[in-house]
Amino acid sequence: MTPLRQLRTPVFALLALVATVTLGCDDLQKSAELKSAEMIGDIATERLASLGETERAANDLINVPIEVRQLDDVVWQVRGVANTHLIKTSEGNVIFDTGLATQAAKQRRLLGEAVPGKITHVILSHSHQDHAGGTQFWVEEGTDIVAHQEYPEEQRYLKALEPYLWHRNRTLFPFMPEEPPNIGFLEYGNVVPNVLVDDGDVLRFEQGGVRFEVIPTPGAEGVDNLSLWLPDQKIFFSGDFFGPLFPQFPNVFTMRGEKIRKPIEYTRSLDTVIALEPEMIVPSHNDPIEGKEGIKASLIKMRDAVQHVHDAVIAGMNAGKTVHELMAEISLPPELELSQVHGRVSWAVKSIWEYYATWFHFDTTTELYSVPASAVWSEVAKLAGVENLVAHANAHIEAGRLIEGLHLLEFVLADGNNHLAGLEARKQVLEDLLEQSREDLDNSYENDWLRYRLRDTDARIAAAEGEAAG
Ligand SMILES: [Zn+2]
Repeated sequence: MTPLRQLRTPVFALLALVATVTLGCDDLQKSAELKSAEMIGDIATERLASLGETERAANDLINVPIEVRQLDDVVWQVRGVANTHLIKTSEGNVIFDTGLATQAAKQRRLLGEAVPGKITHVILSHSHQDHAGGTQFWVEEGTDIVAHQEYPEEQRYLKALEPYLWHRNRTLFPFMPEEPPNIGFLEYGNVVPNVLVDDGDVLRFEQGGVRFEVIPTPGAEGVDNLSLWLPDQKIFFSGDFFGPLFPQFPNVFTMRGEKIRKPIEYTRSLDTVIALEPEMIVPSHNDPIEGKEGIKASLIKMRDAVQHVHDAVIAGMNAGKTVHELMAEISLPPELELSQVHGRVSWAVKSIWEYYATWFHFDTTTELYSVPASAVWSEVAKLAGVENLVAHANAHIEAGRLIEGLHLLEFVLADGNNHLAGLEARKQVLEDLLEQSREDLDNSYENDWLRYRLRDTDARIAAAEGEAAG
């Protein structure tokens, strides 16, 4: 089985590292562009690899060497942050996923040297840039670009929301530059598929004696998930269908901020994969997983875990429970225990709840209007007395009621008020939460958010001390 390794790669983070390098690729010829791209990619990779643990958010994948390995008689892989795969046939080769743009030029050169031949198809697992970023390096005259029917729409909204998502990602991944890169080949949405596969269809073809099945598996990293199945080799190319680990509790709906993912669609897709009985799973991050029985048991466990959480949310909703009660109550039974470093059960509960019930929680009337609770926090702090609130917050914190303490501190620190004792209390809560998180689930997104809030709190403490000194 593959070792459990963590992926902390945001979709754009690595691409972003090259934003400081100014290079106009639009006018260059393809070979020159490839060479330039390889050079820029090397700079970006080295820069990220040289960053300290905290700055790069422990991204192990950046240390994966860019090298070619053969996985089967007809399958080659070039590794990297994201892997690219080549299936060799006597009538031309098929590519599955094209890696991160900054690494793809080198990946394309090495894999092309190892297994020469024309490229008949490029199949994309989904529209995230660490899987589609290198597509243009592979496309030749007559190459089909195969993607899910929803791929163009996913590209559209990700492009349209790029400024928003960029800054949101940057909060979690502080090594990203302030603005998205303005370099031709790195631009988002530059891939136009000419073959689209819709849910319910399977694209089957045979080429040079190898049979291919391109299967829609929506519900994982988005609605546009495609997987590739080689029925004779019994190899399943999963892209990000399982996330960066296998098995794990999936990211049913990412807090990074993307369109909602449908929980039951995901369990149905898992049923499709279980029925195939793969002997090898080849994900687009990390190592292949081999062993029919182990794979089957893990697939069933993942499906049952998502189904368990889903059904518990439905039962709780029908029993009149609030989303917060359900977040606290629902957990995986021992036989379905899975790593939650990527997906997290309590967040899945919330996302499934909102998937069915949407934004109005039938809680307070104020939910219906544009004035948030925070609009009166400062006022409440004045009435209660700021020192009082901080003292009560500290009592909560000392008793281990960290979130209650944090709630009280929100009032103290509202409107950008840099109250030193309040900020120091907040720093204590965040440190305690981070320590708990690391010891408990070690969810990468929770850790990254807490680190962001700690940085922000430290900056405000420095400002408060400056104000006091001034
Ligand atoms: Zn990925």
